[in-house]
Amino acid sequence: MAAMSVPEWYLALIENHRALLLVDSRAIEHLHAWFQIFSRAAYTEAELAKAFAAMEADPKRPNWRKEQLAYVQQHIFRQREASRRGGGEARDGPKCPLCSGMAVVSVPFRGDVWDGNWVAPFRRVTVACSCPAGERTAQWFREEVEPGRPRYSKPIMRLVDYEFRNPLWQEQLRYREEDARVEKQVLGLTEELDYRLGKIGRMPRKE
Ligand SMILES: [Zn+2]
Repeated sequence: MAAMSVPEWYLALIENHRALLLVDSRAIEHLHAWFQIFSRAAYTEAELAKAFAAMEADPKRPNWRKEQLAYVQQHIFRQREASRRGGGEARDGPKCPLCSGMAVVSVPFRGDVWDGNWVAPFRRVTVACSCPAGERTAQWFREEVEPGRPRYSKPIMRLVDYEFRNPLWQEQLRYREEDARVEKQVLGLTEELDYRLGKIGRMPRKE
């Protein structure tokens, strides 16, 4: 994946928590990747600062990076929920740019992804978005309807977990869209040509 740029404040935030976050040589790369997820869920600097601080202060904080990411997301999710319940104008907040408030995202089925390319028959699966609405959906699937029995034995996957396995999904969707557009154009041209040929074919002949 191409290196993506992150804002200064994010780097400063990482630096503030370096003992927690920068523990191995791949950390910075992963933290850059996280930012992609954070920016799509429209996390603010203040929200992330609070979440990182809470994780640092938590005696039961996770050590695995993947769990740390989930920790940050859940923390911000809960904060947003709380402020929403607190009432007032923060009710809807900015619409999630990734799912447009739908809570789920349609992504390439991994069985149709080879060497990072999405290939025919271009099947899709639905995953729960990284935003609060998506997290609510993911949790709903996992809720226990009775002790020890979750609502679904195969609950909807979270985008964050999917992304770990298929990090190029957005590129794949973009390429596919572009392909479909070109295909349509070519088909359109062909149809137009057929139509003209058809008309020529039907031209009255002089006897
Ligand atoms: Zn979303």
